[in-house]
Amino acid sequence: MGKAKLTFLGTGTSQGVPIIGCHCPVCRSADPHDKRLRSAALVEYGGLTILVDAGPDFRIQMLREDVCHIDAILLTHNHMDHTGGLDDVRALNYIDRKAVHIYCEPKVLETLKIMFGYAFAEHKYPGSPEWRIHLIDDSPFAVMPVEGGDLVWMHEKGYCMQMPDGSVIPCGNDIVNDAKKPTEDVLAAGGVKIIPIRGYHDKMPVLGFRFGDIAYITDMSSIPESEFGKLRGLKHLTLNTVSYHPHHSHFSLSEAVALAQRIGAEHTWLTHLSHTFPSHSQFDSELPPGISPAYDGLVISD
Ligand SMILES: [Zn+2]
Ligand SMILES: [Zn+2]
Ligand SMILES: [Zn+2]
Repeated sequence: MGKAKLTFLGTGTSQGVPIIGCHCPVCRSADPHDKRLRSAALVEYGGLTILVDAGPDFRIQMLREDVCHIDAILLTHNHMDHTGGLDDVRALNYIDRKAVHIYCEPKVLETLKIMFGYAFAEHKYPGSPEWRIHLIDDSPFAVMPVEGGDLVWMHEKGYCMQMPDGSVIPCGNDIVNDAKKPTEDVLAAGGVKIIPIRGYHDKMPVLGFRFGDIAYITDMSSIPESEFGKLRGLKHLTLNTVSYHPHHSHFSLSEAVALAQRIGAEHTWLTHLSHTFPSHSQFDSELPPGISPAYDGLVISD
């Protein structure tokens, strides 16, 4: 399995930093490290380009990192700051002439159908986003590099995938349950293995993901004991925190630090940061060794 490289596309809380209309010193800071887009990560792993979450800043994040192709989008959960940019995958549909592969849990799909009903319509408006949804759970799964077939517009049928043998399957409504596909078969065919990590965001189930020796966790306030075995031997760990104070759906800073020390990755990066923390350099100087605030554009590799 190839090495993993992760670029932080955004490291801000749900409103981003600066917050609209806020005059606090962090929101008014001139330091680029204090400009935090909504949290998301770009992962290059085993020859694949994988996006974790596609929030409202998706478009500007893709432009900043000059991303022209994505093999898979993994969704951690269904909150708008992690899914609100999914309409903008249209640009990638046009380049690749294919639907974008999205991996999420069934509950997330239910919300996507409400948020983006037009993307699931039987007769789609031309130009609507093309998604191919793969249902996952907290078991390891494999992502395939490419699948045959081209995205074609069929009069009265909407967008379809035309397979190499000439057959046509409607896409967008095409739900694939990867739990039924043996992971070992996909790995043998050139896929890469991804290990989901179960956590809870208040009571909402959320997934983090491990790629090689990098684990990316966001929007959690607890992790069940059963998941810690998936977090051994990490080089880099990402954890979310939004405040010095206890929060119902995110780790407080002291909880994140204690968790980082328990998991014992070589380095832990904090993300989903809010303007209640001081400016980047001040915050960095307050943290214990081996723990740092992430920032937009930071690149880590295992
Ligand atoms: Zn969030
Ligand atoms: Zn502020
Ligand atoms: Zn959330």
